[in-house]
Parts: sequence; C-alpha cells; structure tokens
Amino acid sequence: MKEDCIFCKIANGGIPSATIYEDRYFRVILDISPANMGHALILPKEHFDNVYDMDPEIGSKVFVLAGKVAQCLKEELQCDGINILQNNEEAAGQTVFHFHMHIIPRYEGDAVQMGWQPGKTDQESLAALAERIGEKLQEVE
Ligand code: 5GP
Ligand code: ZN
Repeated sequence: MKEDCIFCKIANGGIPSATIYEDRYFRVILDISPANMGHALILPKEHFDNVYDMDPEIGSKVFVLAGKVAQCLKEELQCDGINILQNNEEAAGQTVFHFHMHIIPRYEGDAVQMGWQPGKTDQESLAALAERIGEKLQEVE
C-alpha cells in the first residue's frame, strides 16, 4: 500500500466501491466517471505506479482476468464491442498513478472517442527502428 494512493485504498477495501470481482491479487470496480455503461477497472491490490514497475507475475494475471471480465460484460450487457486499455504516465492519459486496466464496453454509435490518425512511414524506417528497439528489448529482463 502506498500512502495517499486512492486506488490502494479502494483495492484493499479501505474506501467503498462498486466491486464486481475480488480475489487475493485484484479488485475489479466500476469506474466512477464511466466512458460507457459497464466501464470497469482492474486494480491490483499491490501498488505499482504503472506498467514499468509492474510485477511480471501479477502482470501476467491481469490479462487473464481482463478476458474474463470482458466476456462477462459482453454477455450481461450485450455490448457490441469492448476496448481494453491501460495508460502509463501523464502524456498517455494516466490520471491515477496506481496501475489499472480499463475495460470499456462499446455500443454501436456511442459517443466514446478513442483513437489516432494513421501516420506515414516507410519500410526502411520501420526496419531501422525495429532493429534499434529489438536490440534494446534483448537487454530487458
Ligand atoms: P486513467 O486516466 O488514470 O487511466 O484512469 C483513471 C480512471 O479512474 C478514470 O476513468 C476515473 O474516472 C477513474 N476514477 C478516478 N477516481 C476514482 C474513484 O474514486 N472511484 C472509481 N470507481 N473510479 C475512479
Ligand atoms: Zn496505490
């Protein structure tokens, strides 16, 4: 638990929340300002600021749980699609600095905005960048 972290408090039951699932590692809650009906957040009970310091064992469980939550939202809410996303750092839209994963049901014609303008590049630039990042990735434990 990190001092003054609201998601540490929510995840560990110190602050009440609309909880849809809980186990020893996670609490899954409904977002207080939902993008759409059924917008859920997976919160690890342990504090990680974001994906950079996420414990790999817990990280590997997050997506398994996300799949279950998505399946359940799909069946129960009959949504037309689901976005799963996770923001890291302010520049990427992170506002609460305790790792969390968004699971957002989508409905045909809804007003949720998410996306980017497709950019331009070329094969040479992609190959050079892939080599650079690939080499770096070999060093990551
Ligand atoms: P971020 O922008 O960091 O990826 O997402 C933070 C999310 O947490 C937002 O969607 C916001 O609505 C939600 N949120 C912030 N504070 C609370 C809270 O106290 N309770 C709940 N249920 N959701 C919260
Ligand atoms: Zn925390």
